[in-house]
Amino acid sequence: MLRTVEITAELTGVPQGEDFHNLHWEKTIELSLDCFVCERTDRTTVLRLGEERATCSAGREAPRHPAPARIAAFDVTTGQDRLALRAVVDHWWAPFHDAKRDRPASALTRAPWVRLHVGSYCSGVRQSGSFSIQSNMVRPVRETCGDCGLRLAVSDQAPGIRLLA
Ligand SMILES: [Zn+2]
Ligand SMILES: [Zn+2]
Repeated sequence: MLRTVEITAELTGVPQGEDFHNLHWEKTIELSLDCFVCERTDRTTVLRLGEERATCSAGREAPRHPAPARIAAFDVTTGQDRLALRAVVDHWWAPFHDAKRDRPASALTRAPWVRLHVGSYCSGVRQSGSFSIQSNMVRPVRETCGDCGLRLAVSDQAPGIRLLA
């Protein structure tokens, strides 16, 4: 059945004016899902905006494979000193039993995890950069430009992940 997961995230403390580093969400999301194709729970699934399928990274014992998931919405909002994202991921889910972990699959994996990528550009040294934020980090996380040392953004709260349907 088709299930829909909403991911929300916000960065604050984004500098404006000449210190602005062209901060933007990159169009790749890594999200843990329970994958009925390889019948494993908690698989990191790599999604790219615009692609009609994702990739289940599986694990050492199972090869990566195409996964029936896609980014259905990718809404960016910018404000004063903030950069926010609301993404919607559709994925096809079917029940199964994870034999290795001996537990049933769920439509939203038991402890969902996400990693979001953020791109930047330092006009001082004319270099592109990137960093990522993910669910399990000790917060607040303060990101600085690796080139000029200015603050890029602060991540106060872990991204939200919830099952919409
Ligand atoms: Zn899989
Ligand atoms: Zn910089």
